[in-house]
Amino acid sequence: MTTQLNSKVVAAEAAKALKDDFRGNIVLPGEPSYEQARKVWNGMIDKHPAIILRCAGTSDVMKAVRFAHDQGLVVSVRGGGHNVAGNAVCDDGLMIDLSGMKSVRVDPVSRTVRVEPGATWRQFDLETQAFGLAATGGLVSTTGIAGFTLGGGIGWLVRKYGLALDNLVSVDVVTARSELLTASMSENTDLFWGVRGGGGNFGIVTSFEYQLYPVGPIVLGGLIAYKAEDGQALLRFYRDYVKDAPDELTTIAVYLTAPPLPFLPKEVHGTHLLAIAVCYCGGIEEGQRVLAPLRKFGKPVADVIQPLPYVVLQSMLDETSPAGIQNYWKSSYISDLSDDAIDVILSYGKKIASPLSAVHMHQLGGAMRRVGDDATAFSHRDASCLLNIVSAWQDPVENEKQIKWTRDFFAAMKRFSIGAYVNFLGEEGADRVKEAYEEEKYEKLVALKDKYDPTNFFHLNQNIRPSHPSA
Ligand SMILES: Cc1cc2nc3c(=O)[nH]c(=O)nc-3n(C[C@H](O)[C@H](O)[C@H](O)COP(=O)(O)OP(=O)(O)OC[C@H]3O[C@@H](n4cnc5c(N)ncnc54)[C@H](O)[C@@H]3O)c2cc1C
Repeated sequence: MTTQLNSKVVAAEAAKALKDDFRGNIVLPGEPSYEQARKVWNGMIDKHPAIILRCAGTSDVMKAVRFAHDQGLVVSVRGGGHNVAGNAVCDDGLMIDLSGMKSVRVDPVSRTVRVEPGATWRQFDLETQAFGLAATGGLVSTTGIAGFTLGGGIGWLVRKYGLALDNLVSVDVVTARSELLTASMSENTDLFWGVRGGGGNFGIVTSFEYQLYPVGPIVLGGLIAYKAEDGQALLRFYRDYVKDAPDELTTIAVYLTAPPLPFLPKEVHGTHLLAIAVCYCGGIEEGQRVLAPLRKFGKPVADVIQPLPYVVLQSMLDETSPAGIQNYWKSSYISDLSDDAIDVILSYGKKIASPLSAVHMHQLGGAMRRVGDDATAFSHRDASCLLNIVSAWQDPVENEKQIKWTRDFFAAMKRFSIGAYVNFLGEEGADRVKEAYEEEKYEKLVALKDKYDPTNFFHLNQNIRPSHPSA
């Protein structure tokens, strides 16, 4: 204990000595900004790093990596800090915080953008939409581009333009040896393959270059909501309706408790609803035609599908995901939204344990599916649906009850489930990480880890363990 304390004091002193060479800020326990700096989106995560290095550029990141080696410190890497597992922050180690690196530079001629790893989708979208361009981004605008892209990236444009990582042109990576490498289709191609799906396992990405596509600025989007008691008929209809949908249409079905929002009639506030949120990113008239069957179905309690700016759609769901509350998620791909699977979803929906929780069913397919399975480390491209049981509540006293509901629900869905999506994984162990990749791919990822990070310096993530981590 005393040794641990001494080493923390020594590391803190050493960090102060870094100051002259460091462009960003050094934040230590006890300083006024420490409490805020150690927080991440999930309020369940309560970790206390010994040192937070808030980097201002690539040179800071390289110094931070060297510093961790010199001091023998465990390292966590923070982009937008949104990951539910909370690996962006650590206890007693060094948190390399990239959230101050937010620059977004669009090249409208080549239709590409260079983005630093602390940017959020809000910042990305505002810059790129100034030129009527976009890449696939998150459904909640406060999500960081970094973790989101390295793990996959499923958003409103996923069926038209693929995952966020499919839109990557190149990345700059600071490796565990503190070298800066550029990875693309022509340079360090093995690393480029691995970072597209392998998360933060191979190094710290300090610059992301994306291909952009013309989108909007006005798209057809919003949501249509039904009473949960109509859920069985609705989800059966929805499953068949989206099967042949054009790539321009991406949807997500959500089971939720109606919040007191003005577009929902007062009498449904606090009751269970099924909402289908949509984005049609092609022509508005064509979109109206494509969406007509859904909008004619049954008796919706609200229909707010309308032409709206893409940046507005990109933040439409922000209020459903407040930062700082308790969050526990369980997720997997679903082979088919079969009648049986629908019945299980609805039966657990009825028993939802918190009004802040929701069940998300992401529609996949389209461009995401057409990318070759070997092209990137990302796996399960052929899944048609991704289920995410999003449990959220205010009071930690309820943890046991809320976690039990989530786990029971997940267990009941097991027979319909395939694999895992790294970006939605909590602390679920090595087997679940393996489930996120096909077996051969996992072996290839281990070989890559052996090459770029043989000692598992970057292990606070959905970890791909190298063959001999203590070497
Ligand atoms: C409210 C909410 C909405 C979401 N919506 C979506 C959605 O629509 N679609 C979807 O696909 N996912 C979604 N996610 C999941 C999201 O993709 C992941 O949480 C993702 O990890 C967030 O990235 P971040 O940079 O904000 O996270 P962080 O917590 O900062 O990072 C997560 C991990 O990524 C690694 N990492 C971060 N930055 C770097 C870097 N620069 N270099 C190397 N490694 C790095 C680290 O290992 C870190 O622990 C959502 C999450 C939340 C909380």
